[in-house]
Amino acid sequence: MANKAASSSSSSAPPTDQHDETEREQQEDEWLELYGAESGWVEARTHCDHLASLSSDLVHIPAPNAHCNRCEHPDENWLCLCCKEVLCSRFVNKHMLHHFHQANHSLALSYSDLSVWCFCCDAYLDAQLIPQLRPVYETAYLLKFGESPPFRSA
Ligand SMILES: [Zn+2]
Ligand SMILES: [Zn+2]
Ligand SMILES: [Zn+2]
Repeated sequence: MANKAASSSSSSAPPTDQHDETEREQQEDEWLELYGAESGWVEARTHCDHLASLSSDLVHIPAPNAHCNRCEHPDENWLCLCCKEVLCSRFVNKHMLHHFHQANHSLALSYSDLSVWCFCCDAYLDAQLIPQLRPVYETAYLLKFGESPPFRSA
């Protein structure tokens, strides 16, 4: 026969706020380990092994308001830096992503914020620091804003 459970679970101990907070911090640490700097989205890379596939003519690029070549989505598209196709993002119809799978063109520039993404590295690339990317970044900036990027020196 079971004993009468000690129903005297009176609130003898005060709520342990401090303990909760420690646990929360631990979870945050684990999260950072899982998704932190190593996954590449925190900081843009300054090197990428796929730059050889860049188009040889990135002086003439489509206008930043060009529509997606597949679905005509009107804005925030991506420019393939290998063949200069304009395709929509993974948040629209994923045509840039499909293009990477089909053509293996891994480098794309966002016409929404001018960031450069490498699908192979799964990381953003620093278009201002990588010499091969800086010209097309500057061209895109000029087309989008009508002036040269402010960081340009002399
Ligand atoms: Zn890469
Ligand atoms: Zn599309
Ligand atoms: Zn392409």
